[in-house]
Parts: sequence; C-alpha cells; structure tokens
Amino acid sequence: MTNSRRTFGLGVTISTTVSARHERPPIVSDFLPDPLPEKLYEGKAKILYPTDDADVLLSFFKDDATAFNAQKRGSIAGKGEVNCTLSTHLFQQLEAAGIATHWIDTPAKDWMRVKTVEIVPLEVVVRNIAAGSLCKQTGIALGTPIDPPLVEFFYKDDDLGDPLLTRDRLRLLDVASEETVETLKAMALEIDRILQDFFARGDLTLVDFKLEFGTTRSGEIVLADEISPDTCRLWDRRESDPQRRILDKDRFRQDLGKVEDAYETVLQRVADVLEAEK
Ligand code: 5GP
Repeated sequence: MTNSRRTFGLGVTISTTVSARHERPPIVSDFLPDPLPEKLYEGKAKILYPTDDADVLLSFFKDDATAFNAQKRGSIAGKGEVNCTLSTHLFQQLEAAGIATHWIDTPAKDWMRVKTVEIVPLEVVVRNIAAGSLCKQTGIALGTPIDPPLVEFFYKDDDLGDPLLTRDRLRLLDVASEETVETLKAMALEIDRILQDFFARGDLTLVDFKLEFGTTRSGEIVLADEISPDTCRLWDRRESDPQRRILDKDRFRQDLGKVEDAYETVLQRVADVLEAEK
C-alpha cells in the first residue's frame, strides 16, 4: 500500500508538511505508551497511533487547519481539543440513539481511542440547506432549504480533488457494494435527523456535513473520523447577519476572522444542551 492511498484507520491522507509542533504530540498522560510508537498515519487534522490491541487505535487531534484540498493551510489555536471534545459528545449522542461509531473513549482532551477500521473511501455529505459546492455547481441560492435532505457521495481521493460521484460511477469504481452504499445513505440520514435535532436545542442550524464510515475488523460498518465545525456547516440561530452567523470552518475558508471564537461557541452551546438535559 502506498502512503497517499492508505485508508486503514481514519483514512486520512498522510501529509509531509505538518508543523514541528505536532510532529510528536506531548506525552500528556499515562494512557500513552512511552515512548510513543511510530505513527500509523497522519492526515490533515489527526494523527493515528497503534496500541498493543490490534482492534484499538489512538487518534491525536491537531490544531492544523486546511481548506480547498490543502491549498490553504493554517492553524486554529485550541482546535484539536475543541474538535475532539465535540466529536466525543456527538458520538456519544449517536451511540445512545443506536448509531454504531468508532469511538471508544476520550482519555485526554485531544486524544481519542477509536476502533480500528478500514475506511470506505467515500465522503458522505448530507445537506439540509444549500451552501458551498452545491451552490457553486448548481446555481441554487445560498440558504435555500433542502427537504428531504440531499445525500451525496464524493470519492475520497485528494489527488483527484474528492470528485462528486454518480450512482453509475459508484458502481463503476466498485469502492463499495450497492448494499453498503444504501446502508451508508440510511445511516447518514438517521445521523442527520439526530444531529439536526440536537444542534437545534443549542440554537444551531446544521446546514450540511461530511461523514466517513469504516468497517471494523469484525465486519461492522461504523461511523468514523470526526464530527466538528471542521466537517459541519453550523449557523447561529441567534444571529441574522449572514457572515456573523457562521460558526464553522467557512470562517477559516473565507478569512472571516474569529475562527477560534466560533469553534468555542459551538462547544459551549453543545455543553449547555448537555448540562440542561442532565
Ligand atoms: P461542500 O461540498 O459544500 O464543500 O461541503 C459540504 C460539507 O461537507 C461541509 O460541511 C464541509 O465542511 C464538509 N466537507 C466536504 N468535504 C470535506 C473535506 O474534505 N474535509 C472536511 N473537513 N469537510 C468536508
């Protein structure tokens, strides 16, 4: 297997330009083997390490941020901890609602223990409101409600720029069986239903999001990767201004500023919902 196409684990593509600060994450707790083993994979937002148990990997969430297929690079202070914490809360919500995920536990704010999976090389995007590439490619106006939600499959391949796939192209590429594609679509719509409802309780609108799935060593399809403002568009229902309401990576993509504040706001809203529902 070549490095750039490896899809085992989180399915992230190995980057060779990660800042030295993240080359070797600090030993923060005794849950980490010392010395840290060689990383298995390094992606744009996370690094994966093996553990003594072949069914378990450790995932470190980086502050590094990329956009436009890594043509734009930067760093968002505290992003790793926020995204790991948020993903933890959201995976727990989904697990409680019967959705299988790769999440095992979160031994530190920016470290997650996850099940070892072989990633399905598809990015599954669900859209509730038109934004991003949908507007660019179809001319549909930003903010147009989409009901029922749209589920799209993109080929997870950085070299090709993650192209949108048709049903026939999915069949042609044979990256997943028709049955698996149907399973992914059904899971994505169920996840959308659960997350839309959850975020709404924190006055957040789930505009769209990207999911990745993997197959565990025992053959179960589970939700993998992360769910965070890096992978979701989230709009603040307490704000009507079209730029100020953006609380996700679009702030970084579009140079809107206050990126860290936006991510913190999402985390705070989610924490408030969990606190209120204790
Ligand atoms: P779009 O297709 O409009 O660019 O993205 C749709 C949704 O999926 C957005 O919430 C966006 O953040 C997410 N998304 C799509 N592709 C990627 C990707 O390669 N990385 C990340 N982090 N999010 C993605």
